[in-house]
Amino acid sequence: MSTEHADLACETCGRTTDHEVRYAGRLLEWTRCTVCGTHVEVTPRAMLPAYARDLEQRLASKPGRMWRRWRRDPLGYTRSLPAAIARQPVKLAREVWGLVRR
Ligand SMILES: [Zn+2]
Repeated sequence: MSTEHADLACETCGRTTDHEVRYAGRLLEWTRCTVCGTHVEVTPRAMLPAYARDLEQRLASKPGRMWRRWRRDPLGYTRSLPAAIARQPVKLAREVWGLVRR
């Protein structure tokens, strides 16, 4: 989960205000207006199909990304690979858990 800030239109305030924006992976999870506190949640049921597609896309694009990183720093990348692979399932499980537990 990551939280960022963005200027979004708030229906309650009737203008563009600063919003807290939370993501699960790369997908929007919820937004909260920092002026009036109105929050809009994207329901897990609505999120899961989009999340599954996003995940599929990320996994499919992985060989290309790995190759680019390896070209930049072959030795460092090779050394970091086992740990990076070992972390993946935990990272994915955490993202999915973040969506489902609510
Ligand atoms: Zn507002």
